[in-house]
Amino acid sequence: MKKGLIVVFQIQLLLISGFCQVVDMNAEEYLEARKEMVERQISARGIADKRVLEAMGRVERHHFVPEQYRSFAYSDRPLPIGEGQTISQPYVVAFMTEILELKKNEKVLEIGTGSGYQAAVLAEICDNVWTIEVNEILAERARRALDETGYSSVHLRSGDGYLGWEEHSPFNAIIVTCAPSNVPRPLQDQLAEGGRMIIPVDAGFAQELILLRKIEGKLVRREVLPVRFVPMLNKDGVKY
Ligand code: SAH
Repeated sequence: MKKGLIVVFQIQLLLISGFCQVVDMNAEEYLEARKEMVERQISARGIADKRVLEAMGRVERHHFVPEQYRSFAYSDRPLPIGEGQTISQPYVVAFMTEILELKKNEKVLEIGTGSGYQAAVLAEICDNVWTIEVNEILAERARRALDETGYSSVHLRSGDGYLGWEEHSPFNAIIVTCAPSNVPRPLQDQLAEGGRMIIPVDAGFAQELILLRKIEGKLVRREVLPVRFVPMLNKDGVKY
């Protein structure tokens, strides 16, 4: 009986060490893929902010995509994350992060947590990150992914991001990763003086990424890039 137990234990050890080796090998490959992603998809396309490049080089994107897509985690495209939603293309994440000109001690709010990847990138740059996800299943998954990758400091809640997170406002920066047809009033109000908001606005036939800056209480607006995001929905699944 005792001998049997030892054998079982030894087999388990063998399995565990074999598994670890595979994980180690993959980790190296992932690191290489990540470096390549930063060079070819991000730097090469003009993203120059060192903090953004470093953040994208550090966050392990493969932990934020479903297992069956892991090998594509660093490819130049959005990927499905379940619930009909997608994780944005790495370049779009970098572009939206850079344009916010974040400083370390600033407060940033994200609407549309999705996988949690963008929130992790923000957390590499800023100490204070809040993020809201309307889909409870995705919110739970993102919480787990953020905890497992060392970003437990990100404040995440499941709810309707149209309303923002008033309790913690004003925010120096707001990043919206789902598209409403207008800039939500609560988000405008929760932006601090000097604050920046990057948001895809859906005009019906096309979506445009808009950069807003609050100057003397007024929002100055600039269109920066045509994009395609999933729609911003309320809790009943109705489009804003
Ligand atoms: N930033 C994400 C990708 C976002 S996909 C990432 O890094 O993975 C857009 C997300 O916005 C989806 O998960 C969708 O469920 C969510 N969403 C849609 N409407 C929302 C709302 N009103 N409030 C909060 N999240 C919303």
